[in-house]
This record gives sequence, C-alpha cells and structure tokens, in this order.
Amino acid sequence: EKLRVGLLFGGQSGEHEVSITSAKAIASALSQNSRYDLQPFYIQKDGLWCNPTKSQAVLQQTQAEPSASSNSQVIQWQLPIEANQIDVWFPVLHGPNGEDGTVQGLLQLMQKPYVGNGVLASAVGMDKILMKSLFAQAGLAQVKYVALSRWQWQQEPESWGEYIETELGYPCFVKPSNLGSSVGISKVRDLAQLEVAIASAIGYDSRIIVEQGVTAREIECAVLGNDQPQASIVGEITYKSDFYDYETKYTAGMAELIIPANLPSEVIEAVQAMSVKAFQTLAGSGLARVDFFYVESTATVLINEINTLPGFTALSMYPKLWEYSGIPFADLCDRLIDLALEKSS
Ligand code: ATP
Ligand code: MG
Ligand code: MG
Ligand code: MG
Repeated sequence: EKLRVGLLFGGQSGEHEVSITSAKAIASALSQNSRYDLQPFYIQKDGLWCNPTKSQAVLQQTQAEPSASSNSQVIQWQLPIEANQIDVWFPVLHGPNGEDGTVQGLLQLMQKPYVGNGVLASAVGMDKILMKSLFAQAGLAQVKYVALSRWQWQQEPESWGEYIETELGYPCFVKPSNLGSSVGISKVRDLAQLEVAIASAIGYDSRIIVEQGVTAREIECAVLGNDQPQASIVGEITYKSDFYDYETKYTAGMAELIIPANLPSEVIEAVQAMSVKAFQTLAGSGLARVDFFYVESTATVLINEINTLPGFTALSMYPKLWEYSGIPFADLCDRLIDLALEKSS
C-alpha cells in the first residue's frame, strides 16, 4: 500500500511564495516515486487550509497566490476531511506559523509522523534571542548582541540607544526576534538610523535583537538526520548589495551560491562541527540549514543562525548542498520521510 504524504505549503507568513516554489519542487520529486500517494494541502495567506484538489491547482499554477477567500472572518478554520487519511506530513512552510513549532504542534496532536523538527527545536530556532542564548551556553562563537523588548525600548529609548552604541558600536543590525527572509532587518550606522530601525523591527515582533555588524563571508551548511545528524559540504553566498536582504534573497541573479565554498579545510571542518552542535543544542531532528559568518582577517567562524525549515526550491542552498554531497533532490525527500517515520516509531 502506498504511503499517503500530506504536503503542507503556503502559509501565513512573508515567505508564502517561497513555500509554494519549494512545494512544487518537492511535489514533482515525490510524484515520481510509486511508493507515495501525494496529497497537497495549501494554506492560504489568511490561514485557511485547502483540500487536495484545490491545492493541486495551486501547485500547477505558474503564477503564485490564487484568490484568497474574501471574507475569512466569517469562515471557520477547519482541517480538510482528507487530512484524516494522511500517513506522514511533509510541512514546507517557512517563517512564523509554519517554521516556528505552531504547525508542528498541530501535527503532533494529530498523532501522525511529520518531516523535520519538532515543536521545541522549531520554536527555539525561529526565536533569535532564545537561539542565541542557547548557542552561547553551548560555547558556539557568535557576534555580540543586545536583546530587548518593545516595552523596554519604549520606556527608555535614550538610555537603550546609548547602551547599544557603547556596547556594540556601528554598523549594527536590528532584527525582530521571530522572523526570517531578512524581513524587518536593518543595517544601521548612527543613532538616528538605530531609532528608525528599532521602530520598524518592533512592528514585526514584541522582542528584538541588535547585533554587532561584522565584515565577513557568508557560509551555510546543511544538516540531515535525527540522533546522528550529518553535516553537508559547505557553501557560500555572495552578492553585491549592502547585506543579504529580502530583495537580494528573492530577486533572480542578485545573489550567487558557491558550492563548495573555497575555504581552508580547517574552516570547513569547524563549520561542519558547529552545524551539528547547533542542531543538537536545539534537539533538532530531520533537517536544518546553519548560517555562519567567516571573518577572513582573523580566520574566525561565527554562527549566525539556524533555520529549521530552510528554503527547499530546486535552486535553494539546502538541497543543493546535499546534491553536491551525493544525495540528489528526490533521494533527499525520501530520506526526510524515512527520518520522520523513524522518529515516530
Ligand atoms: P533567513 O532568510 O536566512 O532565515 P533571517 O531573516 O533569519 O534570514 P539573518 O540570517 O539573521 O536573517 O540575517 C540576514 C542577513 O543580514 C545575513 O545573511 C547577513 O547578510 C546580514 N546580517 C545579519 N546579521 C549580521 C551581522 N551581525 N553582521 C553582518 N551582517 C549581518
Ligand atoms: Mg533565519
Ligand atoms: Mg529562515
Ligand atoms: Mg539567515
């Protein structure tokens, strides 16, 4: 009997379109394998779930974003009836309400195996403040940072501004704690910019993080596995913009993926070891992409963050790194499903 795979995509986040592109790539890989009966479930931007028939139409469209229901306030959220028949879920949702443990919690309660990280790793990985304090605890080198809440900032903006300036200096990066795709992130060079950047970041999240800016090469490594996670070959991202912002990430041709990264072997080994350590620190399972800064002048490797449900389009860093490490895209999807089944058994 075929394994019914529920492919969950779309979602209520700024990374909705990326998720659709990832899902198309995964759907085409899974549908080539007779072991699976693929059942897509598209989550609209308003959070409503579509049945497999409607979801299939979204996967086949060349243009993203089909019409969302206009009066979502009056429609009750419900799980499509077909969801009861799924054997294993494959969530491909990025950002809040998908990568952050919320959907994982729902799948957990449905008592069905699902691909990737559980509630804990997903929630902690999405929250930069908690992620960084656990990384610090694990002895993983990272940039200096200051964490604060919207409320704290609004009480004493002048003293926080002064504190951040002396603690971190410029340039620094202001980020919402809980987000991805560089949404809400600003690079700032003076106090006036800092205030504008914080005002923007607190519009996305009630907690923010300000980091010391480093001049560094951007390195990424993929992790795959449960109890014995493996690190992939290491990749690098290059671009001409000021930093790896949203536009650079999602405009074709603005960033280049270099695989394998041209780095000394001890740096590659350090990146791989730190990737596995970061994954295990968060009690990760299935997959993750770990992002680093390599400061060439001092030969220092700093961990930037972990992404527990990284971009999964045919051109994304995560599957590309595994492809170059000897696991083609379709095999990677199989491995992830096997890991989900293994974890739940
Ligand atoms: P992702 O899409 O990978 O989930 P994200 O929204 O979680 O991204 P970060 O990876 O934290 O955001 O930062 C986005 C980009 O901003 C980095 O890739 C880098 O270009 C730049 N950046 C962030 N923090 C720093 C820093 N401390 N120093 C220098 N550059 C930084
Ligand atoms: Mg991230
Ligand atoms: Mg992300
Ligand atoms: Mg990142």
